[in-house]
Amino acid sequence: MTDCVFCKIVAKQIPATVVFEDGDTLAFMDIGQVNPGHVLVAAKAHCENVYALDDAQAGAVFRAVARVARAVRAAFAPPGLSIYQANGKPAGQTVFHFHVHLVPRHDGDGMNLTWPVKNPPREKLEEYAAKIRGALG
Ligand code: 5GP
Ligand code: ZN
Repeated sequence: MTDCVFCKIVAKQIPATVVFEDGDTLAFMDIGQVNPGHVLVAAKAHCENVYALDDAQAGAVFRAVARVARAVRAAFAPPGLSIYQANGKPAGQTVFHFHVHLVPRHDGDGMNLTWPVKNPPREKLEEYAAKIRGALG
């Protein structure tokens, strides 16, 4: 896609600091570096979000995520690692080309995701699950 920043990185039209590459994925340093070692694993093809991935791309991306995560752990020994992936503006997506964040984590590092649990009754879980099962392809 012509004005997509990650497509430009994949096409080497703009620079990025690459750590890993295979046929379907490119992993490079996030320019913002929430903590040192913050890497993005992106699909090489322009897929806007998780819904656009085919099975081969989805498999390739998570293989790359796990492999790069092991390397980040070996390189930085962070006490924690968050894997974060946003789809759509309400989820916090700002670059609309599928990517996964690997963020090394430290106590008190200021990164925050509030998690407002609702703890609904079991019948609600059954109702929600039935909807999802019915929608599975
Ligand atoms: P999102 O909010 O969509 O999950 O994350 C987008 C990420 O892309 C941000 O963390 C931002 O720092 C990173 N980013 C945006 N533009 C560039 C760029 O040109 N190069 C690199 N390496 N990262 C970028
Ligand atoms: Zn793109």
